[in-house]
Amino acid sequence: MRTIVCVEPGVIESKDFDKPVPQAGEVLVKIKSIGICGTDIHAYGGNQPFFSYPRVLGHELSGVVESVGEGVNTPIGSPVYIIPYLNCGECIACRNNKPNCCSDIEVIGVHRDGGMCEYISVPESAVVVTEGVSFNDMALIECLAIGAHAVKRAQITENDTVLVLGAGPIGIGALQFSKIAGAKVIASDVMKEKLEFCVNEYGIDGTVDALGDVTAQLKELTNGEFPTVIIDCTGNVKAMESTIGNLAHGGRIVFVSVIKSPITFDDPEFHKRETTLLGSRNATLEDFEHVVQCLKDGRAKSGSFVTHTAKFSELIATFDDWVKPGSGVIKAVVEMD
Ligand SMILES: [Zn+2]
Ligand SMILES: [Zn+2]
Repeated sequence: MRTIVCVEPGVIESKDFDKPVPQAGEVLVKIKSIGICGTDIHAYGGNQPFFSYPRVLGHELSGVVESVGEGVNTPIGSPVYIIPYLNCGECIACRNNKPNCCSDIEVIGVHRDGGMCEYISVPESAVVVTEGVSFNDMALIECLAIGAHAVKRAQITENDTVLVLGAGPIGIGALQFSKIAGAKVIASDVMKEKLEFCVNEYGIDGTVDALGDVTAQLKELTNGEFPTVIIDCTGNVKAMESTIGNLAHGGRIVFVSVIKSPITFDDPEFHKRETTLLGSRNATLEDFEHVVQCLKDGRAKSGSFVTHTAKFSELIATFDDWVKPGSGVIKAVVEMD
């Protein structure tokens, strides 16, 4: 089967691998659509902390069940999306119902080979049968679920004013699910076009130019009270460090970003606000199901932020252009041909 391998940072190659055979408890999925994620781009760029090479990238996946191993109940032919986080089921996080931050987590396409290929065999628990959502939209569920999880972490309600830092795909998920939770939502980004898009497409309530005086703009937008929740989706150390000084007293900060360096902040600023600082890693089945429900009833939009698509056979020729700064890619989707 055709497989695209990231051999080392900056190098992807097409290889011919054997089609996998599903083992007991596994499902062989014929891949239909692959969402390209910041994680894939960072892995290709060599600046993702959890990667080793060579690696088959791709963790935002949808497809059709092609065959099954022993003891599997999922019917052959079912349309599925894949939850790419494989958890151990035994560690303290798993026992406490937080499989998304399992201490032994293996993410498909990160810690083990992913879905930039024609077929992938995964545990049955990693597939969710879903009717009535297109394969391209199903490949975007994971990305949206990350944002939905961040919103759940902060327990956002209609009483909140949420500032989402970074209007990329994860930020777009975070701002959509903050709106769905009833909050007033402000987005901040360095690119004006992205902010305009979020106003027009998702009806957010305000925007902040991240290159300008952010504190002054927030003061103006919130009558001097500042956002009660800040969700960082930038992967930018300065943005992350700026959150504490721009937060309402009693507010919550959610770091969805993961960066390679330490971050520092001023403790008196942290303390006087009684700041709640939350990490947000991956997503849970509950988040995925919330996303699917919101896609089905129209409260969430998926395809709207897909700026680029390609056929699988064109991916190698296209990938370099997509990862270039200034490419205009918000979200790209690869369709199997
Ligand atoms: Zn992703
Ligand atoms: Zn675990």
